[in-house]
Amino acid sequence: MTLADRSAVRGARRVVVKVGSSSISGDNVGAIEPLVDAMAEAHGRGVEIILVSSGAIATGMPFLRLSSRPTDLATQQAAAAVGQNLLVHRYQQSLDRFGIVAGQVLLTAGDLENPTHRSNAQRAMERLIGLRILPIVNENDTVATHEIRFGDNDRLAALVSILVKADALVLLSDVDAIYTRPPAEPGAERIAVVSDGSELDGVTFGASTSGVGTGGASTKVSAARLAASTGTGVLVTSTRRVAEALDGADIGTWFLPTPR
Ligand code: GLU
Repeated sequence: MTLADRSAVRGARRVVVKVGSSSISGDNVGAIEPLVDAMAEAHGRGVEIILVSSGAIATGMPFLRLSSRPTDLATQQAAAAVGQNLLVHRYQQSLDRFGIVAGQVLLTAGDLENPTHRSNAQRAMERLIGLRILPIVNENDTVATHEIRFGDNDRLAALVSILVKADALVLLSDVDAIYTRPPAEPGAERIAVVSDGSELDGVTFGASTSGVGTGGASTKVSAARLAASTGTGVLVTSTRRVAEALDGADIGTWFLPTPR
């Protein structure tokens, strides 16, 4: 299935939802519930939902008595090891309200390039989805650090979308769309659709400013273009609009997929 426009997200068979660290940790931990509500609604309609969630480091920080994100990699990895556990527990507690079971999947970009690891991951994902379990994917941070360094799981979400041949990828952050310039600046306009990429010419993107994750508009755009180039339609919007996104509303920035 190749989705012609964002309204078709509602009828998609398989959708990857990606959420960033700052959206679901710290003061925003309460956002897990509405996120789960929206995913459960789609799941209940028969949509196969896969969640790619960052937030292990941010969730682990208070347990290491850290008030800000650690700067050295080893401590980031330690925080992730502590936080991953609790992060999935929080999702499961919320999913319990709907009788949905989560399955934790920790992957590296390298796993998705190595043919044996890739086919193992693919088989496991297909079985989880077939069992109506909701896979929750994160980077395996103790052995890989790409997303810690470069993108708060944006690239991983694109690679997962390719792995499972998702019809759509919904990339969530604190900004509701990609804008022609940083959204706080005057004259910033929403880019509604990206088809061949020319819509992005001359656009400057900011990095993450949340202080707990690493993604930003530029990592979102490259992840979105990667997934769209392999047949997955990508919607970039904000976490609080996830229900509308899964309902096919005219929001965010839609990256038109290249037919598979
Ligand atoms: N996988 C990491 C996490 O879940 C990466 C995100 C980040 O840079 O904070 O915390």
